[in-house]
Parts: sequence; C-alpha cells; structure tokens
Amino acid sequence: MTRRILIIEDEPGVAETLLYALKTERFQPVWCETGSEGLKALEKQEIDLVILDIGLPDGNGFEFFREIRNKFSVPVIFLTARSEEVDRVLGLELGGDDYVTKPFSPREVTARVKAVLRRASGDQDVPKSPPPGFQVDESRKQIRFFGTPLELSRYEYRILCALIRRPGMVFKREMLMELAWDVSDISGLRTVDTHIKTIRHKLREIRPDDDPIRTHRGFGYSLKEKT
Ligand code: CA
Repeated sequence: MTRRILIIEDEPGVAETLLYALKTERFQPVWCETGSEGLKALEKQEIDLVILDIGLPDGNGFEFFREIRNKFSVPVIFLTARSEEVDRVLGLELGGDDYVTKPFSPREVTARVKAVLRRASGDQDVPKSPPPGFQVDESRKQIRFFGTPLELSRYEYRILCALIRRPGMVFKREMLMELAWDVSDISGLRTVDTHIKTIRHKLREIRPDDDPIRTHRGFGYSLKEKT
C-alpha cells in the first residue's frame, strides 16, 4: 500500500527536493503551497502523514497545526528554519510528531517519515511520559532524577530537557546546540559533548550504575526509553 504524504511548503525548491526524495522511497507525495490549500487537501483525500512548513504565505504552521489536530488524527512533521521555532515545536503544548531543521538532507527526511509512520501504526511504542526516573518541573526549571534535584547549568538543563521530551530519539549535536544555545555556533559542537559529560557525571552521582544517555558515535545522543 502506497502511503500518501502531504507537503505544505511554499518554497518550490524545498518542495521539489521533498517530492523527489519521497517518490524515490515509493511514497505518494502531494504538494500544497499554502496552509489553507493543505487543509482542503486533507478533507478531500486520505493522507497518512503531513510535512508542515512553519513560515507559510497565508499564516504560520503552528496555527495550521492546531487546525489539523482539531479535525484529523494524522501525524505531522514540522519543517523549521529557526531555533525559536524548534523551541516551540518541542514545547509540550504543541506536540508535533517530529521536526526537521532546514537545510536538511533528503535522506534525513525520509528516515523521519518512515519512523513516524512506524510509530503511528503502533509498531513501536513511544512513551508520552518522561523516561523512568526523570521528572521535569518547567516552572522551576528543575529536573529531578529518581527524586533528587539535579544542579544543572542553563545549557545542561536545556539539553537534558530536549532529550527527556523525546526518549529514544537521536539528537544530532547540531540539533542540541540549536535547542540549547541562543546563538548556534557550529565551531562549538565539542561544547555539546562537554555538557553531556557533565550531565552524565551529575546523573552518576545519584545512580552510579545507571547511564541513561546513549552515545551514537559520529552522530549524537539519545536518552534510553527504558532503564
Ligand atoms: Ca516557508
């Protein structure tokens, strides 16, 4: 069965890249240039997944996302261009299924599309609650690990929050940098590793035998879904 993917994106160059990548992977992509066209397309035909740009000519993707969520149960992957957008995408109240940051590689997008479809079809259980032992108190900017509050710097807090919100998801270092730092600085990717190291150290002080952070060599980090 061919899965139909709706692309809501106003930049033809980006849309064409997506159309080509998805067709290559035997998906059936449908392209709309505006949010309102996209909503119409969802009403007209069966759609398995939506790739939604945030900056659209007739409104922003967040508004369209709410409308989509109100009417349909289709999974949504956001296309984001700026780090403030990533922050909002990851914000708990919004709950998109995933996001891809521009510029992206076609392979990255198709991999995410497949992963989200797999999750949506229930092959893989993705917990909505934080992974075991973690408790986030947004208002106090505090994270507890098995009941003990962690003393985290601002960047450590933001990095760990990102990991906790998407257990099992592999975050590239660039992604964590973009999420945690106000200004992203590619030359400073090593500092992400340094912060992960200190976070690990702080977790180990509480549970010496437990290392919930997984390193994906040459790629990035994820948080284990189960202990
Ligand atoms: Ca756009």
